[in-house]
Amino acid sequence: MTRKYPQFRIGNGYDIHRLVIGRKLIIGGVYLQHPDNLGLDGHSDADVLTHAIMDALLGALSLGDIGKYFPPSDEEWKNADSLFLLSKIIELIRKQGWEVNNIDSVIVAERPKIKPYVEMMKKNIAHTLQISESSIGIKATTNERLGPEGREEGISCHSVVLLEKK
Ligand SMILES: [Zn+2]
Repeated sequence: MTRKYPQFRIGNGYDIHRLVIGRKLIIGGVYLQHPDNLGLDGHSDADVLTHAIMDALLGALSLGDIGKYFPPSDEEWKNADSLFLLSKIIELIRKQGWEVNNIDSVIVAERPKIKPYVEMMKKNIAHTLQISESSIGIKATTNERLGPEGREEGISCHSVVLLEKK
């Protein structure tokens, strides 16, 4: 008797972007208001949560990182909507026969308070990936004023994903 075991792959993603004046603060496709009007700098919209999730998805299948698919040298991705980039990455994952089991992320930001925006972020990610919001964890923490996040030089994000073979 042969038993079919589920096949799983885990992926880990990390990203950080610098906080600057004159940029929008977009995280998880949500436009956040920073008390000092700071936003994240980057080639695309610098959506640190969405980038960490994309790298986790790619890492789970040993497909490299987002720089390989959307190089900063390519003008096409200038100020790109990262949720759109995420929709391209999930296509790639599904083409290889894999499905998202769950995603968990932690955003490290001193300000603004992330919690009021978490449900909206979950909705955006769930909609883009076409998965249930209950499969997506988004947490936020300050860095206790330590390090670059604590000094408000930037905002970072860590994500893990679990993929399941279909
Ligand atoms: Zn990024």
